[in-house]
Amino acid sequence: MGDAQKPLFRRIALIGIGLIGSSVARIAMENGTLAEEVVANARTQKSLDRVVELGIAHRVELDPAKAVEGADCVMLCAPVGAYAALAEQIAPHLAPGCIVTDVGSTKQSVIRDVGPLIPDGVHFVPGHPMAGTEFSGPDSGFSTLFEGRWTLLTPPPGTDEESVEKIAELWRRCGSMIEVMEPAHHDRVVAIVSHLPHLIAFTICGTADDLADESRQQVLKFAAAGFRDFTRIAASDPTMWRDVFLNNREALLEMLARFTEDASAMARAVRWGDASYIEDKIQRSRGIRKSLIELKQA
Ligand code: NAP
Repeated sequence: MGDAQKPLFRRIALIGIGLIGSSVARIAMENGTLAEEVVANARTQKSLDRVVELGIAHRVELDPAKAVEGADCVMLCAPVGAYAALAEQIAPHLAPGCIVTDVGSTKQSVIRDVGPLIPDGVHFVPGHPMAGTEFSGPDSGFSTLFEGRWTLLTPPPGTDEESVEKIAELWRRCGSMIEVMEPAHHDRVVAIVSHLPHLIAFTICGTADDLADESRQQVLKFAAAGFRDFTRIAASDPTMWRDVFLNNREALLEMLARFTEDASAMARAVRWGDASYIEDKIQRSRGIRKSLIELKQA
């Protein structure tokens, strides 16, 4: 058996076992190369009962402190707003040499909330797999979720390099590609590629819902591809997205301000019949779509 086949960790504790956590759990259980033992924790017993039924962990623990005991890898997979309280609960129970990592969609807030609580002798490697769907909970995960997708790692200065490499290897074994990034840069990038599109989707669905009764029914009846695509994004988990917006406030507001300016420019072009402006914008957008397809990220 080569090095690549040996499990990376003895025991991985997944704190949160929804879409992302249960996808990692499935991979760990299916290929056996992430960890010898998978421990799952959730906020509710109901989710843990489901994890047992699905057979996607060796053991479940409702108490996060118990879940991390003896683990050499702890992965926070809960909504980012829950991280501070979770970190406080688990910190005294982390084994020396353990690597704490996470999958949260915001990175400066995670470093702010979790970093100071990490005890000496424990390593902290924040991460963000750029893969997801609009579904949540332990049933929604699947083992190919991260294939061909990027995982961004944002280790604070001075992070143990061996630990960063181990977490990078974990994600490679999940099928992911790795990029190491500065946390503030991460937050700006995801604000434009992920957080702003969600904000727009939630807003446009709200706008449609606020229409007078008769029009609203027609929106649903004749929902065209454009609106339908927005409703898919807008079906995402409210807790997770509330936490993302509140924990990436500056970057999101900056991108929203830029977007609002550009939307006003487009409104002006429509008002004044500036056909070439409108056409030029659409051409540029098609170029972005084409590049995404070429990069296999569509
Ligand atoms: P999810 O499916 O909603 O699962 C969340 C899990 O966290 C559940 O097991 C939940 O337990 C548990 N949890 C613990 N404390 C919680 C609390 N205070 N409030 C709510 N849930 C709590 O979420 P997810 O989509 O896997 O997202 C998990 C993390 O991944 C988030 O930080 C998110 O930013 C990040 N992320 C998400 C995506 C995506 O597209 N979904 C993509 C990349 C990264 P119960 O089931 O018992 O409630």
